[in-house]
Amino acid sequence: MIIKKTAAEIERMARAGQVVARAHEALMAALRPGMSTLDLDRIAQDVIERAGATPSFKGYRGFPATLCTSRNHEIVHGIPSADVVLEEGDLISIDCGAVVEGFHGDSATTLIVGGDQTTTEEVRTLVRETRNAMWRGLEQVCDGNRLGDVGAAVEAVADEHGFGVVREYVGHGIGRALHEDPSVPNYGRPGKGLRMTTGWVVAVEPMFNLGTAATRTLDDEWTVVTADGALSAHWEHTVAITPDGPRVLTAREDEPAYPLAGSVPSS
Ligand code: MG
Ligand code: MG
Repeated sequence: MIIKKTAAEIERMARAGQVVARAHEALMAALRPGMSTLDLDRIAQDVIERAGATPSFKGYRGFPATLCTSRNHEIVHGIPSADVVLEEGDLISIDCGAVVEGFHGDSATTLIVGGDQTTTEEVRTLVRETRNAMWRGLEQVCDGNRLGDVGAAVEAVADEHGFGVVREYVGHGIGRALHEDPSVPNYGRPGKGLRMTTGWVVAVEPMFNLGTAATRTLDDEWTVVTADGALSAHWEHTVAITPDGPRVLTAREDEPAYPLAGSVPSS
């Protein structure tokens, strides 16, 4: 069942989304080689708690941390650890959720540890174009469009570059629960699938691999990795359908909250 949100509820979700945005900004500013993924987790937890909010993931089905931190060939759901020390040129996917007044915000980034110049053009392209695909999907989250329009827009970017599109893990509705109906796949056909309407709030979250789309889960029963060991990137924002078009509730200071109203980052 899809639970539509009122305008007042979307404002509450925007407050949750902005706590997540502040956490990501703090993480982007702090990230450097030699930090552990547990260091990142503590930074995010501190931002969330100072805002009077609660981490969404900690305790979710027993997940032990504030962030999911997935390095290199890890796709999603990596567990922060003092033993995972980031090195120059690593890819680190950071997924963060927070609850404010009973509503969740959910957003992910993939960053290159030590900066763009520490890795190859191929990896830079993977990171940039996964983010680009997220924005192309977010733009489609409009009243009257269909879920297939979102998936097709995301998938088209992957196809252009030959990236594997993860199929087992997809975007989702979000509200009082972290994961609500519907599923929002990163593939699809234009004009197909459920019709979206004002009041929907969903997370759009492409996961692209340099190799094939195949995944497997590690023995910790959380960490999902690429089956072929190739690198993977993941970007995510939470978006509401409003009378003014899609509103990105987790947009950071340097990103448009209303992507159809202004310039949309293409890189
Ligand atoms: Mg997430
Ligand atoms: Mg999500």
